[in-house]
Amino acid sequence: MSTEPVVDLIDPPGDGRIQCWCCGTVDAPDRMVHLGNHPEVHLCLRCAHFVHKQAWEIEDGGKRGPAVLARSRFRSLRAGVVRRGWHQNRFIGGKLRWLGRYLP
Ligand SMILES: [Zn+2]
Repeated sequence: MSTEPVVDLIDPPGDGRIQCWCCGTVDAPDRMVHLGNHPEVHLCLRCAHFVHKQAWEIEDGGKRGPAVLARSRFRSLRAGVVRRGWHQNRFIGGKLRWLGRYLP
C-alpha cells in the first residue's frame, strides 16, 4: 500500500497552471506555495495563509500570556463572525474579510 499522492489527477496538464491540493483553485505555479520536501504539493496563497493561521493556533496551544490571550479572543471573534455568516454580508462582508487577513 502506497501513501504517494496521485499527481496526474491533481495537476491538470496543458496551460502550465496548477491546482491547489487543498481547495482546487487553479493558478500559475509562481502564485502557489510549494512544500520543501514535496514540491509536487501546491497550495494557493489563500490556503497557505489558512495553514499558517492554523499552525499559529497550534503553537499558541502550549503558551500563556496576554498576546496569546488576545489572539485567542480574535479567533473566537472570527469563529462567531463566520458562524453567523457576517463575512458574507454584502455590506460588511468585504471589510470583515479584509480585516481577517491581518488578524490571527
Ligand atoms: Zn487553495
